[in-house]
Amino acid sequence: MRFDLDAVYLEEEMRETPLARRVIAALAPGVPVYRVPDGRSAARADREAADPFAAGKRRMVIMRRRSRFLMGCPAASNEFACCGYLVMELASNCPMDCGYCFLQEFVADNPGFQIYANYADAFAELDRVQAGAGRPLRIGTGELADSLAFDSLTGMSRDFVRYFAGRDDLTLELKTKTDEIENLLEIDSRGRTLVSWTLSPERVFRSSEHRTAPPAARIAAARRVLEAGYRVGFHLDPIIAYEGADRDYAALLDRLFDSIPAARIEFFSLGGLRMTPGLRAAARRRFPRDPMLLGEEVLAPDGRYRAFAPLRMALYAAINGRIAKEKSKTRVYLCMENAGMHRRALGEAPPTPAVLGARLAGGN
Ligand code: SF4
Repeated sequence: MRFDLDAVYLEEEMRETPLARRVIAALAPGVPVYRVPDGRSAARADREAADPFAAGKRRMVIMRRRSRFLMGCPAASNEFACCGYLVMELASNCPMDCGYCFLQEFVADNPGFQIYANYADAFAELDRVQAGAGRPLRIGTGELADSLAFDSLTGMSRDFVRYFAGRDDLTLELKTKTDEIENLLEIDSRGRTLVSWTLSPERVFRSSEHRTAPPAARIAAARRVLEAGYRVGFHLDPIIAYEGADRDYAALLDRLFDSIPAARIEFFSLGGLRMTPGLRAAARRRFPRDPMLLGEEVLAPDGRYRAFAPLRMALYAAINGRIAKEKSKTRVYLCMENAGMHRRALGEAPPTPAVLGARLAGGN
């Protein structure tokens, strides 16, 4: 999959970096490159555009990251039964355009597609954080951007997979809805990189996941990286409680297990559609005809609109039941749900974040 760009903005200070050179060499002919003193101004929303958020996605900004690369997972809190991993921010925003994407609210003021050309500074941070942690750590990269979108231009995955291949105490998780895996296939990850795909039924893909790879292409890409020595996992998130969703998720899992045996899958994370009032308004404004965004959610105690709890629970239980039929040891966990929901839907209490994180990081 390849994405189109309207322009590239290159921060003056970053112009000689390997990343800037690679991107400019690989750009499609005719895409203008503008030098700017400070990439932050180029990333701001163009309020004159009909859809400033969509316009930002088509404007790549190659710049220096001013703050730390590593931070706690934004979903982590005492309230949720989550897996407690660290997030490494290598980019911000995404060339794909999912109707439910939280970035529509989160980066509304700075929607330029930012890529941090000083990403090699993250290696020293990783060394430091790992030394202080004293246990294996799992590092995700797909929170404010898709981990592999534009990887054919940036080539960043190659440097990270190589770094993690030399570290038995760190696991890299690349999270994607693309099939942009060519760079990965060239490198021996030594099993230290896990590539995870977010999967949705065909109906959700067609309705809401604009410019992403179709589910069948994501599954085929997962199979190829698995064969190349990577670990793989899947996020069924957001699960949308529409009429017939249970059948569609069962069909999706049938198709997945036809291609990849459950025993080879590290984990499934399940999460229901959740939207703050601001995100819900932005999503409905941008995609007024998307039926997936017009459900009758209720405002949950965490301030997000969610499907009515019994509906979510029934869907989680049905999906977990389908996975359980494979009789594998694949871990299933809920993302951004509380321990009570975990217990009712999956029939067991969630592991503590430390235990779950260590299990996933260690791959055991
Ligand atoms: S692929 Fe992920 S980051 Fe990109 S638009 Fe969709 S939900 Fe957002």
